[in-house]
Amino acid sequence: MLQLITYPHPTLRYPSKPLVRVDAQLKELVGEMFDIMYQHRGVGLAANQVNLPIRVFIANPSGEKETGPELVFINPVIKRATGSSESEEGCLSLPGINGMVKRNKTIHINAYGIDGKEIDMQVDGFLARIIQHEADHLDGVLFIDRLSEENKRQVEEDLYGFEATFDMKRKAGLIGTDDKLAEDRKRWEAKYC
Ligand SMILES: [Zn+2]
Repeated sequence: MLQLITYPHPTLRYPSKPLVRVDAQLKELVGEMFDIMYQHRGVGLAANQVNLPIRVFIANPSGEKETGPELVFINPVIKRATGSSESEEGCLSLPGINGMVKRNKTIHINAYGIDGKEIDMQVDGFLARIIQHEADHLDGVLFIDRLSEENKRQVEEDLYGFEATFDMKRKAGLIGTDDKLAEDRKRWEAKYC
């Protein structure tokens, strides 16, 4: 069973490795990722947000299971990013925190779908923002890294709160040690990377 991880879990800062194989288990994992995304009312989710260190993310701009396309991007590469737009973002791994983030307005994305078919398309608007946010996750980058200095100060207290909760959970044995988490990541990498 996959579980959503929250800041400052180390896997959120881990640059994920490219995927080299897709099997039935991976398809199930991606299905679970969609369930978790809808449960938390998200529009996108990267694999490392459920502690899987592989370059996969999902998106559904409608945020609802019955509506909108269910998109899966494997080994995504963003090219030819142009224009600029600023809008408010949040993140399932930082619940309750929001902030204005500058992104490119239009991007070209190359990736593979869960069916193994190549995706090569130009995207703009909300989906372009989701894709840039999720692609950042795969590199270990969070939207809070892209906030203005003023905005960063505004969320500082909340981040300390997350850090304190994380420390308590770890002391209670609910989250593994750094060594244990690194071992878990290596196991997934041995299987899929
Ligand atoms: Zn996020």
